[in-house]
Amino acid sequence: MTGTVSSSFDRLWADLEPVGRDPRGGGYRRFAWTREDATAREWFAAAAAARGLDVTTDRAGNQWAWWGDPDNGPGVVAGSHLDSVPDGGAFDGPLGVISAFAALDELRATGHVPSHPLGIVNFGDEEGARFGVACAGSRLLTGALSPERGLALTDGDGVTMAEAMKQAGADASAVGRDDETLRRVGVFVELHVEQGRGLADLGRPVAVGSSIWPHGRWRFTLEGEANHAGTTRLADRRDPMLDLATAIVRARELAGEYGVLATCGKIAVEPNGVNAIPCRVTGWLDARGADPAAVRAMVAEFDVGLASGSLAGPSLVSSSLTEESWTDPTSFDSYLVSRMAMLLDGAPVLATGAGHDAGILANAGVPAAMLFVRNPTGISHSPAEHASRDDCLHGVRALATVLRDLAG
Ligand SMILES: [Zn+2]
Repeated sequence: MTGTVSSSFDRLWADLEPVGRDPRGGGYRRFAWTREDATAREWFAAAAAARGLDVTTDRAGNQWAWWGDPDNGPGVVAGSHLDSVPDGGAFDGPLGVISAFAALDELRATGHVPSHPLGIVNFGDEEGARFGVACAGSRLLTGALSPERGLALTDGDGVTMAEAMKQAGADASAVGRDDETLRRVGVFVELHVEQGRGLADLGRPVAVGSSIWPHGRWRFTLEGEANHAGTTRLADRRDPMLDLATAIVRARELAGEYGVLATCGKIAVEPNGVNAIPCRVTGWLDARGADPAAVRAMVAEFDVGLASGSLAGPSLVSSSLTEESWTDPTSFDSYLVSRMAMLLDGAPVLATGAGHDAGILANAGVPAAMLFVRNPTGISHSPAEHASRDDCLHGVRALATVLRDLAG
């Protein structure tokens, strides 16, 4: 690798690093169509401009930087996203976009001129932190999320995605499946920090992604009776919080029985007062695993428990589960996966439980695959998420090798 390239990686990283970072050290808050998001988009446009790349924004608001005429395609595209979960880490998303620019610099530094157009993409709203639907940018692009449903999604303050886009100066009326953009993408490779310990356990810096587990999100509500925490006898209480606790523990037990993962990471409590017995609690269940049938069976048994009242106390009303999202298992392009593993000297091939824009594109018929960069602790969606600079540069080199091969 040329020295120019490691310094270009460092410069890209240093320029983006402060954007949306909580000054108190709590991690990143880069949510879709906010000021922080706009600053990240300006960073992307500036990085492209500094390389003489043309930037376009598709109908869904995703940014594309092109080396070569994208209409002389099909193009070879790398990239990821720049938004974050609440208090997210520095690597999830940005590493893929920065590495794409640095890999392009590497190709240029070695005098390589690709025969296919080479694109770099910044997918908007990947985490769904503001409007609740993950990979919203790529889902809108491919039509997996309809513009009617997407634009009507609301954030915690009741602001719709359409209003948020308008406030950010984006054209909400144009949102919809974008065939012109999709036609340009012959192949997509997303480099991403690993969100597990697969590579740390193998002692390798870079892996090729083979597939994404099926995953879903469900919502359930338990109703009780609001009352005073100091004057209501224990025997007289109808406290849905206790049943939420039972439900959460039950989800964990069932996950173990079915060999899947289940998480309750978000709840809503009404009225949410320290000294008030709640009248209503809502829980969200995230479930995923290698086998879709096992995930479905676990969730179905959880649902039966809720509906039969065996989780909720006899005086409580529990809702059944409402499915908010379901994503089938995604297999990345098998030719691409084996070719990339071969190009990278037999890099390990790993599946992941995390959803990605590459999965949305793969499900829309775009040949897609991923590269993972080692994360020593496996921690992600947290300020503790990390990859060493050396491993990041390994990732850039791997991506450059892949792009050089695919773009000819
Ligand atoms: Zn990500």
